Amino acid sequence: MEQLSLFDDRKVSAPLASRLRPENLEEYAGQKHLVGKGKILRRLIEEDQISSMIFWGPPGVGKTTLARIIAERTRAEFVEFSAVSSGIREIKEVMAQAEKNRKMGIRTVLFADEIHRFNKGQQDYLLPFVEDGTLILIGATTENPYFEVNGALISRSVVFELKALEKEDIKVLISRAVCDTERGMGAYGAEITEEAADFLADVSGGDARLALNAVELGVLTTEKGEDGKIHLTADVMSECIQRRAVRYDKAGDSHYDTISAFIKSMRGSDPDAAVYYLAKMIYAGEDERFIARRIMICASEDVGNADPMALTVAVSAAQAVERIGFPEAQIILAQAVAYVASAPKSNSAVKAIGLLAKDKLMTNPCTAKADTLLCNGCSTCENVCPYGAITYEDQEVNDHGIRETRRVAVVNNALCQGCGACTVACPSGAMDLQGFSNRQIIAEVDAICR
Ligand code: SF4
Ligand code: SF4
Repeated sequence: MEQLSLFDDRKVSAPLASRLRPENLEEYAGQKHLVGKGKILRRLIEEDQISSMIFWGPPGVGKTTLARIIAERTRAEFVEFSAVSSGIREIKEVMAQAEKNRKMGIRTVLFADEIHRFNKGQQDYLLPFVEDGTLILIGATTENPYFEVNGALISRSVVFELKALEKEDIKVLISRAVCDTERGMGAYGAEITEEAADFLADVSGGDARLALNAVELGVLTTEKGEDGKIHLTADVMSECIQRRAVRYDKAGDSHYDTISAFIKSMRGSDPDAAVYYLAKMIYAGEDERFIARRIMICASEDVGNADPMALTVAVSAAQAVERIGFPEAQIILAQAVAYVASAPKSNSAVKAIGLLAKDKLMTNPCTAKADTLLCNGCSTCENVCPYGAITYEDQEVNDHGIRETRRVAVVNNALCQGCGACTVACPSGAMDLQGFSNRQIIAEVDAICR
């Protein structure tokens, strides 16, 4: 357990990633879907309506930083806690302090890093304190919290999903790291080329810590050039991050043009061309895992159930490439590419799932309605409705000039799921569906899949 005054890890000896840790939301990079202007988490922070929450996301995307910014902003006492190094005794001490803080009107933010590694006893112990507001729990996890965190704790928290940083966000951080003379490496007089920054932003896979560590290593280990400056080139960065720099030929073919030609060759059933572009990517230094992912996508997206074995071959190739590496991995990739390119093609899965667009699924597609002139109140529809959506009421009906009161079926739109069962069962043809029915959607999907 470690009690910190916020941002006190800014010592010169601290790693660059810690020194550059943003202090406020204005400096914070990425997660615009949560902390962008007017977004949910920013509103909660600005209106000081913070409650317990769990940040779920890959490493290096700013989970700890966000927790510290929240604590700073809400003037709460921030206690950092790690499941790996702290036991129940330390938790009890924190709770006792949180209780004292509460009596003095001070809030306590408990930041539980790797909360998925807390055992059930530790998680259960936190529950009552979270519930009565003694502390605000902010958990961070790289694992899906719905599987890894105590359900009771989840139900008392808001889960926010943090995403890998965008390439442009990483480039902003790299530039800050190289130029900032106070918290960054600016005092060393280093320069980073555009190509090197692009490469680093690409290969870091959205992990800011990884990119900043590489910059720090590059600056500290690269000798100055004749002009007295440290030049961070793509080769230097490649060495620092231990990944190959990708370089396509001098004709100026871009990375994405080659990948596009590679995918189109597989999709167009041209194995010779597909293997040609594969070789080009390999010699340019493309990441073999990236290539394997493209083959798997093509095997499902373009071959699909026309030859289900294509996906099996592609997945096996990806696993084999992971275990074996280059140079032999190129043979495995070529085998998978030739198979997928030669296989028959079907995009029915793409079309079927594409039809089920979110707006169609999330808006109630249709509801049933009884024609009061045709309905004779026989109750058949009520008996078949699986959602209990049908009731009856007496309504005044004008049947060709004759006014009378009839018992007719009435559909509760909030309960009706548009399944159409009542329309099939109704003996008088009184019940009909209004809008686009689930059955129509299912029939369309069925037609595509068959
Ligand atoms: S369409 Fe289905 S859910 Fe709606 S009222 Fe008829 S039987 Fe019930
Ligand atoms: S089954 Fe048809 S006729 Fe009978 S109550 Fe329902 S809507 Fe009316």
